[in-house]
Amino acid sequence: MISKRTIEKVFETARVEEVIGDFVQLKKSGSNYKGLSPFTEERTPSFMVSPAKQIWKDFSSGKGGTVVTFLMEHEQYSYPEAIKYIANKYNIEVEETERTQEQISQDNEKESLFLVSDFAKNYFKKNLFEEEGKTVALSYLKERNFNDEIIQKFEIGYSENAKDNFSKAAIHAGYKLNFLEKTGLTIVKENENIDRFRERVVFPIRSMSGRILGFGGRILSSSKNIAKYINSPESLIYQKSKVLYGIFESKQSIVKNDNCFLVEGYTDVIKMHQCGISNVVASSGTALTENQIRLINRLTKNITVVFDGDAAGSRAALRGIDLILEQGMNVKICNLPEGDDPDSFVSNKNLEEVQSYLNKNSKDFIVYKASLLLDDSENDPVKKAAVIRDMVESISKISDYIKRELYIKECSSIMNISEQVLYSTLAQIAKKDFNNLKKKPVKEFEPISIVKSDKKKSQVNKLYELERKIIEILILYGNDLIDFEEEVFSQSKDGGSTRKNSTRSLKVFEKIYMDLHIDEMEFSNDNFKNIYFRIIECFNENKEINIDKFINELSSEQQLEVTNIVMDNEKYFLHDWEKNNIYPKRKKDTLAQLTIETVLNLRCFLIDKKVNGFRDEVKENQLDKNNLEEVINYSKLKKLLSEKLNRVL
Ligand code: ATP
Ligand code: MN
Repeated sequence: MISKRTIEKVFETARVEEVIGDFVQLKKSGSNYKGLSPFTEERTPSFMVSPAKQIWKDFSSGKGGTVVTFLMEHEQYSYPEAIKYIANKYNIEVEETERTQEQISQDNEKESLFLVSDFAKNYFKKNLFEEEGKTVALSYLKERNFNDEIIQKFEIGYSENAKDNFSKAAIHAGYKLNFLEKTGLTIVKENENIDRFRERVVFPIRSMSGRILGFGGRILSSSKNIAKYINSPESLIYQKSKVLYGIFESKQSIVKNDNCFLVEGYTDVIKMHQCGISNVVASSGTALTENQIRLINRLTKNITVVFDGDAAGSRAALRGIDLILEQGMNVKICNLPEGDDPDSFVSNKNLEEVQSYLNKNSKDFIVYKASLLLDDSENDPVKKAAVIRDMVESISKISDYIKRELYIKECSSIMNISEQVLYSTLAQIAKKDFNNLKKKPVKEFEPISIVKSDKKKSQVNKLYELERKIIEILILYGNDLIDFEEEVFSQSKDGGSTRKNSTRSLKVFEKIYMDLHIDEMEFSNDNFKNIYFRIIECFNENKEINIDKFINELSSEQQLEVTNIVMDNEKYFLHDWEKNNIYPKRKKDTLAQLTIETVLNLRCFLIDKKVNGFRDEVKENQLDKNNLEEVINYSKLKKLLSEKLNRVL
């Protein structure tokens, strides 16, 4: 664990505009910076960074938050990774706490393996351009149409034809044999050390964050006796079931395109990049694993599996589908023409041609399965039944009910069979799974009604909007002193009462706090509830709210809420409206009115909810006399509030 002190230091030191500036070209715009969204393809900037508040907001994707959330979103770092990245940028020493001796030594060992691997990558890379490398390996790559730029981008290298040149060089440079052995770069025999990679083109394999984990090496000749590819063995840093080749180079493009192409080999990834399609990863020969799918899942929900145009490729594709569906992702399959793999397919085509082929031939898994399996079973009812069962098996892996329903419809129309039969097949499968697993019960399939929940949803939204508005007023104007009009009832001499308006100076937060308190109103949204109490606490201690400090104490969901509120108010400056003297309506002029109105609206809303709740009880004959009185009281109150509301409007 990183110590609290380090985290505080990181937040104190980091400048959001500097960190983001390393990834996005930012231009000063008023008191903020703006730039093109790094999360979408766009031409006019809608990405905004506030140096004063130390937050950012991307209006085109809706993302936003602190400097750390930016690194987590953009670089797919975990929280500690993001903290370490910033610490490194600003030369802050990272203090770790609560690590056992074992953890420390394991981390140190891991770090050593990373360092050796990085040395090897650079060694092989340099080798490619020395005499031997140039004549045998670089020429081989050129022959296969790899261009210079792509060789640099993927840091392709060459391991020379020698027994132990690399191992010697590494030891000479101070790397311990122990670590060379553990990464598998050196094979340690009784009385000699041998380089694992000899006379091969070497492809470094990276983690999501870009560190070298291992290598794949391809032989130059087409000798039948030696394995075409060899890979680094499993180690503390390289577990092939958790690695996808190309993930580092492709991650941003995967996010932007909201889709990931999955291919088989190193050369497929690289050539697709060279062609201009950069959202591609490879499972490198192994069957797709859950861990690999999870890596993609962090970036997008959509996978398009591109497999070679031969039968073996198709079968392999089918096996991976259910695994992907199980993780709630959407799968498309694209078959290449007979005899092609992605590498050969793109080699004589331009980007448009490739894109258009991929678009046309990417089929949703259900359509793909149907076409593939049906080819030879169209007229055989027994086979057709098996195909349908197979499709429903896949559908049963989808946990989203709405999606399931859509697929059942699709399957029903393709296979020309009633939905009802498909549903009962689905139920059978669910039951079978349940009996097989006997773990947690599998929910019986029950199509949900979208219409029914609509009204409820809009009510939830309204409540959310009202609560959000109150938080917004508090954050932006909570400490402002305002004259509020109040109604005062005074007893007249004849015993009656008269109503008088008088004004009272209050801070906005005091007014809101009092009004909510009188009615014992609470926020229904837990995020807002927490933000509310923190704001009140802050003002009560006579402190101003500094967004950059304030936000760091909140959960990430709460951070996004606050960022959205604050940045929505800055949005007007994105389009140079400032320059043209177009200003949004100043809320301040009518602040008193806005405050009273919002609180009243919330009160009305909650009373409505109460009354409607009682109404339902009446329908079910559960209402007793006491409740009836309450209903009447609430209705009266509602009327009173509505009148008040009308007066302020
Ligand atoms: P190339 O175009 O260089 O022949 P490829 O990517 O087309 O390479 P394939 O034979 O299609 O090679 O294999 C796909 C992937 O499977 C390779 O990129 C590699 O990761 C893995 N692979 C292939 N052959 C072997 C092997 N003998 N040992 C280990 N992995 C292999
Ligand atoms: Mn190939």
